[in-house]
This record gives sequence, C-alpha cells and structure tokens, in this order.
Amino acid sequence: MAAQNPLVQNPLVTEWDTPFALPPFTQIATDQFRPAFDEALREHEQDIAAITAHPDAPTFANTIDALELAGRKLNQVGGVFWNLTGTDSTEDLRAIERDISPRLTRHYTAISLNPALFARVADLYGRRETLALDEEQARLLELTYKSFVRTGATLQGAGRARYAEIAERLTTLETEFSQNLLADETDFLFELEESDLAGVAEDVKAAAAQTAKERNTAKPYALTLQRSSVEAFLSQSSRRDLREDLFKAWIARGENPGKTDNRPLIAQILALRQEKARLLGYPTYADYKLEPTMAHEPGAAAALMDQLWIPALRRVEEERAALQQSVDEAGGNFTLAAHDWRYYAEKLRASRYALDQAELAGYFQLENMIAAAFYCAEKLFDLRFQRRDDLPVYHPDVRAYEVTDGQGRHVAIFYGDYFARAGKRSGAWMSNFRGQKKLGGEERPVIVNVMNFSKPAPDRPSLLTLTEVITLFHEFGHALHGMLSDVVYPSMSGTSTPTDFVEFPSQVYEHWALRPEVLQKFATHFETGAPMPQALIDRIVAARHFNQGFQTVEFLASALVDFKLHWRPDSPEDIGAAEAGVLQDIAMPAFMVMRHRSPHFAHIFAGESYAAGYYSYLWSETLDADGFAAFEEAGDIFDPATAKRLREHVYTAGNRRDPNAAYAAFRGRAPDTAALLRKKGFV
Ligand SMILES: [Zn+2]
Repeated sequence: MAAQNPLVQNPLVTEWDTPFALPPFTQIATDQFRPAFDEALREHEQDIAAITAHPDAPTFANTIDALELAGRKLNQVGGVFWNLTGTDSTEDLRAIERDISPRLTRHYTAISLNPALFARVADLYGRRETLALDEEQARLLELTYKSFVRTGATLQGAGRARYAEIAERLTTLETEFSQNLLADETDFLFELEESDLAGVAEDVKAAAAQTAKERNTAKPYALTLQRSSVEAFLSQSSRRDLREDLFKAWIARGENPGKTDNRPLIAQILALRQEKARLLGYPTYADYKLEPTMAHEPGAAAALMDQLWIPALRRVEEERAALQQSVDEAGGNFTLAAHDWRYYAEKLRASRYALDQAELAGYFQLENMIAAAFYCAEKLFDLRFQRRDDLPVYHPDVRAYEVTDGQGRHVAIFYGDYFARAGKRSGAWMSNFRGQKKLGGEERPVIVNVMNFSKPAPDRPSLLTLTEVITLFHEFGHALHGMLSDVVYPSMSGTSTPTDFVEFPSQVYEHWALRPEVLQKFATHFETGAPMPQALIDRIVAARHFNQGFQTVEFLASALVDFKLHWRPDSPEDIGAAEAGVLQDIAMPAFMVMRHRSPHFAHIFAGESYAAGYYSYLWSETLDADGFAAFEEAGDIFDPATAKRLREHVYTAGNRRDPNAAYAAFRGRAPDTAALLRKKGFV
C-alpha cells in the first residue's frame, strides 16, 4: 500500500473513477482510515441533521428515502475497512478497529436515539395506510420504525442513557473477543518433524512446510489453529499422541489464561445483552433477538432443535460403536476419544464406501470447482463470469471476475479470495464492498467470497476436500444472493434478511455441488485429466449420510448452548460451568466436543448477528432440503421454471418481502421438515 501524501486527497472518501468504481486498493494506506472515518462520520451527521431540519412535514421521500441515502462515504470507507480487518488484519488495523468500533456504535446509537428523527419516522408509520406505498416501501417503513424501537428510540430518561452505554460497551467487548481469538489461532504454532507426519497427505505436508518457512520455525513443519489445517491433520495423522495435543490446543482457543482469555468477556457480554433486552421490554435476550426472524419466538426455534436432537443422539451412538469396533479390530487398546473421531471416521468411510479422501481430493481441483459453481449459476440464472486481471485487488492472491447476464449486461463484480494466510480470520464468508440499490441511481454490487483453503505448493494445483467443495458452493450461494439482488432500497438489498432465512440461498446452492451432472463435467483428476468415474460418484452418493450423527450433534450442541445462554432471565458468572451445565442437561455424549466452544464461538460473541441465532443454519436447512426437492420433483436439477421462481422470490428479492411469504411464493406452500429428516438420513 502507498505512503500517505498530505497533498493528495484521501482516496477513501473521493468518488472512485476506477473501472466499475471499485475501491482503488493500491492507493489506500492504513493511516488514511482514521481521517476518512472522521470525514465520513461528519458527512453522515450532516445528512441526518438535514432530515430533521427539513421545513416540510415528513414524507416518505424527505425522511425514509433520505435516511436510506444518508452516509454514503461511511458505507464506502466501512466497506473497505471491515473487509480488510477480516482478510489482512495487522496490528495497525486492529488498533484502528478498537477505536472505531465503539465510536461507530456511539454514532449509530445517537441516530436511533435522535428524538426529532424518530418523531418523523413514527409520524409516517402512524399514517402508513394513507401513504399509498408499494410492497417494498411498506415493508421498509415498518422495518425502519421497528429498528428504531429495537435500538432504544422509545426509552426515556435513565433507561435511554443506560441503553447507549450498554451498546457501546458491548461493541468494545465483542471486538476484544474477536481479536483475542485471531491471536490464539495465528500465534500458536504446532511444530512438527518429518517423522511426526505419518499418514498425512502430501498437500497438507506442503502447506505445513510453507507455514514453517513463513514463520521461521525451528522444526521443518508447522500448523496453526485454523480449522482447515487442524481438521486435515486430525483426519489423517496416525499419531494418536499428536492428534490429542493438537486437538487440546484447538478446543482451548480463547480460554488460555492470560491476555487473550475470552471467558471474562463472555460473562460481561451475556449480562449486558440480558440487561439490554430487559430495558427494551423483553423477558430474555432470545425473545428480543428472535422477534424479527422467521422463527419469530424462541419456542419455535427450540422445537426444531428438539425435533432433531434425539434422532441425532441415537445416530451418533451407532456411529461411535462402529468406530470403536474399528479401533478394536486394529488392535487399539483404548476407548475412542474426541481426538480420534475424525481419523477413524475417515478409515471407516474408506473401508465401508471405498471412499478415500486423498483419492477424492485428486478430482477436486480448486479451479475446476470454481468453474463448476459458475456453471450452475449460468444454467440456473443465466450468468457469465469473466476473469479480469486488470481490475484492482486488495491482495495478490485475490482474483476479480466481471459478472454479466446472457445479454452481456453488467451484473456485479465478484472477488474470490481462496487461500489461508496470516492475518486472515479462520472460516469462510461472503461480504461486499458495495451493495446493490436503485434509489438515487442504480448501483451494481461488488461481492467477495473469502475462504481458508491451503495454498498449494508451486508445482501442483490446489486440491479441495469434499467439505471444502461444499463450503465453496455455500459461500458462492451467498455471493449470488448479493450479486443478483434487484431491489430499490439499499437496506433491503442482497443478504440483508433475517439470519434464519439468509442461509437458505447459500445452503440450497450446496445441493448442486455433488450432483453427477456437475461432477462428470468438472471433477477431473489433476494428474490424468480423467473425469471422476461413475463408480466413485455412486460411492459419494451412497456415503452421503455417513457421519451425519456426528455432524448434527456437533452443530446442535453449539446451537443449544448458544440458545440456552441467551434464553434465560439472568446471566451466568462462570461460562465454563454454564456451558458444562447445558451439555449435561442435553446429555451430550462424553466422546464428543461441541463444534464451537463458547470461548471461541465467534458467531455469537464476536458480534450480535448470530447471538441466540446459531440455530439459523438448521432453520435454513429445513428450507434448503425442502426447496431443492422442488427441482427433484420437477425431474431436472436445472429446471427452468423452478429456477425462475427461486431467482424471483429468493435470490433477487433481498428483504423486500417477509421471508415466510417469499418462501411460500417460491415453493407454493410453507416448508415441510420431512425433507430435512430425509436429507440427514434420520428416517
Ligand atoms: Zn452461510
């Protein structure tokens, strides 16, 4: 990045004259963020002041339209900043993040507590029936009004001041939580000798050698605590002692004593969320949080989780018995433990279905799987993807694509950022640099998918595991939701939907990844170029329910802990004891560990969006299982009529319609959970 020249205007706050008005990454320097935020916040305050000072009585245009268009520079600066703190965090960026997060919260709280502004919104809402609004406008007005109420606008006196204090303190704590976790994941190095790598595949070894080189370790190989490298080692290494050491370090992320210990932060976060909910008139934080979702109230989400939990426990016990038998047959004189599960599950998968991850990976070349995801988008939604190496990117590993429709019209810019690197958060996600909107002039979106695949050695292509292929399709489903968006109002655009609906477009897209129609075309072997044999495809299909008990229990344990921590009228002092208490109540098997233990459960503690909301994945899974069945019933996974309805009511629709109604419009009826049980093989 360039050094700052005081004579040149800060590129973060100018109009971008780059191709497609993309962020001018190469001109942006870290020290420009603070002044850019200063200016952008000032501009947003002026925009708000102009609305409240408007001499005319409130109209939809002078109040709601104006609110939607306010803070343009803030969106621009924030779009760049929040993406970079996720993908290329540095100590300097983290320092800015620690300062700017509470400041932004103060800023937005001041807006939601602005009495003159709320009075205008409330006035419009009170006479909404007389305003002749279309469906999107009516929903926007309702959501805007309710969002003010949910962020304290109707509070008076001391409650008002306390709300603002809580909001700011929560942001600070959540930022600290996230930074501690990143430190634990990247600072820790599990160093290994050549002799420690028995059973480990060549590409995992190559990545570990690369990490050792980059981090200058004493031993020739090293792993960080990022999920992709840990899971690979746990599935492949025949060294039980090393699996145990690595697993212990992995599940201790965020609870190592010292300055990165997240446990004291969690106690404060839960207490403050609970207090906030009570202030706003809800019995618990879960009641507050679920009100605007598809589930609408905690009982509905809990009922779905309960419906799955007992069948999942039954299944995981069968799976455990089978794995223990493998241990015994191999002469292992021990009881299967959590750090053994992945290793023996892979062995059993290989023997039962003749499915060997290393053999499979040979067919899953990253480049071909990206092409497969694009191909499905072309067949379903008539999109085209053209790589554009001339466009600005924020890191040399990132590639840019221009997305057009069948008539060559511009749809979006898509960035793919696929490889793990120091400074990148673990996991995989979709985000945007700019959302879609039409109000005040149409803008098409700039979307990014971020993954943490292992970077290949220079002499071989990047190969993915089956799980990674699914992840790639999942995030690309989110990306399509952002890219196809076709709404008027920016706050209704793309993925700005309730969390228990937002995983539907991503999870339903996973269904196309492993279909024979797709694999035959794109799963070609990296050495021979041969397409995946039909027999292997059949074995993948046959094994689709394998380990479902484990995956469901691992997920649901986290979802239930999240839910029970937030669905109570008080809050725990000791998070370790509270987590253990929930696990005991639900009879969590001793041979398993939840997918995300509380001290590193970033979904729910690094921010609020998935708090009391981790169940959303399961809720959306009901929709994706039932939704994809519509294509199967039509007899064609690319059935044009079904794809058209999916596009119209889901992928282009953002949040312009209530998600229950949107789903029913696509499917012709409400979702049916039977498809979910079938998908998991629980019937
Ligand atoms: Zn997702």
